[in-house]
Amino acid sequence: MNLLPFGKLPPAKPRSFVPAEIDLGDWPAIAPLFDELERRVKAAGDLPAFEAWLLDWSELCAALDEESARRNIAMTCHTDNADAEKSYLHFVEQVEPELKPRQFALEKLYVAHPQRANLPRPRYTVFDRDLENHVTLFRPENVALETEEAKLGQQYQKLIGAQTVNFQGGEKTLVQMGRYLEEPDRGLREEAWQLVAKRRLQDVEKCEEIMDELIQLRTQIARNAGFDNYCQYMFRAKGRFDYTAEDCQRFHDAIESEIMPAVREIQKARQAKLNLSSLRPWDLAVDPANRAPLKPFANVGEMVERTQNIFNQLDAGLAAGFQQMQDLKLLDLDNRKGKAPGGYQSTLSEARVPFIFMNAVGVQRDVETILHEAGHAFHAQATKAEDLYAYRGAPIEFCEVASMAMELLGNEFIEEFYAPAEANRARKTHLEGVIGFFPWMAVVDAFQHWIYTHPDRTRAERKAAYEKLMDRFGGAVDWSGLEEARAYSWHRQLHIFLYPFYYVEYGIAQLGALQVWANSKRDKVKALADYQRALALGASRPLPELFAAAGCKFQFDEATINPLIQLARGELGKLAAA
Ligand SMILES: [Zn+2]
Repeated sequence: MNLLPFGKLPPAKPRSFVPAEIDLGDWPAIAPLFDELERRVKAAGDLPAFEAWLLDWSELCAALDEESARRNIAMTCHTDNADAEKSYLHFVEQVEPELKPRQFALEKLYVAHPQRANLPRPRYTVFDRDLENHVTLFRPENVALETEEAKLGQQYQKLIGAQTVNFQGGEKTLVQMGRYLEEPDRGLREEAWQLVAKRRLQDVEKCEEIMDELIQLRTQIARNAGFDNYCQYMFRAKGRFDYTAEDCQRFHDAIESEIMPAVREIQKARQAKLNLSSLRPWDLAVDPANRAPLKPFANVGEMVERTQNIFNQLDAGLAAGFQQMQDLKLLDLDNRKGKAPGGYQSTLSEARVPFIFMNAVGVQRDVETILHEAGHAFHAQATKAEDLYAYRGAPIEFCEVASMAMELLGNEFIEEFYAPAEANRARKTHLEGVIGFFPWMAVVDAFQHWIYTHPDRTRAERKAAYEKLMDRFGGAVDWSGLEEARAYSWHRQLHIFLYPFYYVEYGIAQLGALQVWANSKRDKVKALADYQRALALGASRPLPELFAAAGCKFQFDEATINPLIQLARGELGKLAAA
């Protein structure tokens, strides 16, 4: 039984190193290929041999990546299929642990190779920089510490996953409770919010303990690698060569001075529309005019057709890309029993084609998701001609420009889904969401900067530091009587526990997306051409050059943010008047 929605997809380039009939889920069959690559790189005496070796390694990486992606897709499309689960777990448990040390051994051989210095620049600059960085940071004594770190992460997830409340006659997860915050009945919203807050506060001590241990471990990991603190270490480990911790702090300051006035204005307008004397935390998700939810489409067929129409109006190249995804069945979009939750874009790295997975149920959020994931898919399509596997990806700060820009660009034609008044309502909600994300991003990022540059401070000092950030970025929301819930509201942000320092990327990317959108308002054809040219660069150039190719500045200061927020406020003004 074929568990994949798409049919047979041949490699974009015929294999020249990996055998055609190999089982890429069978480690004993794969291992000899790594032996062969190790033997060959040691013997590579000139540049052509070294470059040919790089491409063969690249071919193997792509084949293994596609194998993993196929198994993951089959599993998420059929969570109730035992074979799909077994096949996925086999890869994760039997292949990946063997793979990692062998890949790292090849990286070390690469970095030590005499021909490395002769690789043409700038072609190999980024590739070389990233591999050298990865090898240089490795410390054998950190392996055990990282295992400890992962275990603490698991403990945190278990703790959060077990949080439930009894509400309206049944046990509900806190995720399920989210929808009550959209209820027009304010009393009901408050009851739901308070119940969730109370449940979260029960685990404050445990979360604090986990965080204490994480801070200690991470600080040790950084010191083992020769850094003063974990903040410095993570900037290097995440390959942030093009911006510094100070740039991020300037970003936070610029959000405070440029974006917070707009956030407060949006919140004040919401408060007025809801006719409230104060805006409380349970008043933020409800429609301010108490309207029924938007209904953009009746079924997934309609959603795909209308999305295609949007791309047809946006750009012929993108339209052809989305049409190809339809033709090759690279979409699994409807919500049905036996499917994993959420949405993602995945790439079949050998066929060099994208795949989109989501659970559409007919709400506005689905429209945002398909536009977003299509942006990622266009990115994968744009790099199809690139033969170096590592360059067919892109740094996350730019990946999310591709997707977030597509939300803003696609929204210009969202009348495909709605009558004019509803289209404006959808645009307004989306744009308010874009603006409203920045303050929380600033809190999450700035808090982690503080934590890891003050690793020896007490819990009370940590609490005070967080409260100060909430004062700066909390906006006009009235938390009186809810001080404890506010002081520990970061406990629910899993990135802080599991993916330290991974968050500012979304803020950086959103600035890029807003610039692409601003460019399109001036000259749509040029903005779309720049966007696609930048996507086609993949990971082959550093971030500032990727941004520049897309017609954007790689800066997160007041001067960059100010015109973008003016544009967004102007649009919101027009939408309010419409
Ligand atoms: Zn994304």
